[in-house]
Amino acid sequence: MQANISYSKCGIVIYDRSNKILLDPSRHDHCDFTFISHAHSDHLAEKSDKKRCRSTLLMSKATCLIARSRGYKIDNFVEEHDGFELIDNGHILGSKGLLIDDCIYYTGDISIRERGFMKPAKLPAVDTLLIESTFGKPEYIFPSITEVLHKTNNIISESYDRGVPVILMGYSLGKAQLLTELFANWGPVYLHESIQKMNSIYRELGIPLIETLSHADALSQGLLSKDKPWIMIAPLTRSGSNFVKYMKSTYGAITVGFSGWAVDNRYKFIMGLDYALPLSDHCDFHELIRVVERCKPKKIYTYHGFAAEFSSSLRKMGFDAEPLCGTNTRKTKPMRNIKNIKNTMQVTNHCLDIYM
Ligand SMILES: [Zn+2]
Repeated sequence: MQANISYSKCGIVIYDRSNKILLDPSRHDHCDFTFISHAHSDHLAEKSDKKRCRSTLLMSKATCLIARSRGYKIDNFVEEHDGFELIDNGHILGSKGLLIDDCIYYTGDISIRERGFMKPAKLPAVDTLLIESTFGKPEYIFPSITEVLHKTNNIISESYDRGVPVILMGYSLGKAQLLTELFANWGPVYLHESIQKMNSIYRELGIPLIETLSHADALSQGLLSKDKPWIMIAPLTRSGSNFVKYMKSTYGAITVGFSGWAVDNRYKFIMGLDYALPLSDHCDFHELIRVVERCKPKKIYTYHGFAAEFSSSLRKMGFDAEPLCGTNTRKTKPMRNIKNIKNTMQVTNHCLDIYM
């Protein structure tokens, strides 16, 4: 029986055999299965008891543990079920794509790039591929991890020579844990409280991140003196956040932000960062095409980000591709007071999201 794929007010819906399956819905709705690919807030529906999911939740145990630690009520999840296979998609710890009946694959947010403890996505050959297209335009090509490490280490080295502390900034779930691993050799490393919490969950799940002091502990022990440089790993926020303002004015710290959107030179000005480097947990444009080529699908649906642009690029390459309509409506947290810059930059709100 042919599956039916559509877009509803809740997000992507697949009718397969007699099952209604919701994929990373923005809110819960009546269905047989709800698949949650990972624990970023834009992929988890409501936290409240009243709106709790009543269908069978498909997700990894790691995603469930991380989501619960962030206040989401989850009590009926399964990792396995007939007709479904959850496949590592390389985005953050516990993240999975969903293979349905060995013929439809939904990628979720995906990365095929090895970085730190994160391994590349595994890719099944399928008839139908639903692929995210966050960076689905040709200008979004990321440098190698080696190049990003080299540039960052140079920035830290020069700052340390001047006695200046450095704040490394990334999403508190996923990116911040990578930063903790990649720059653990620079001591001392301290952690913003939200990242300390996520790092301890990663350690519980088997990722051997260093145990180090939180910002509050380092502060109370007088370890943030102006004369001695240190690294602080903090959530990616604009320079306007109270925390960053305080750290810059009190300690003269510099900020380095990490995001795939940093391939655009304007990103660091929009975010008010001293430096911005392209380190992403998503595929860049070329990598998205590689995913398509390796999955060998007959039919492709693109969703999220540059869905129309990416499907257009795929059609020019001879693929049967189309965007799922409404795919830019995922729950986002656009930044305020940057309307003009945002319009100039011609990017989706997604690039300005901060996943806490
Ligand atoms: Zn994500």
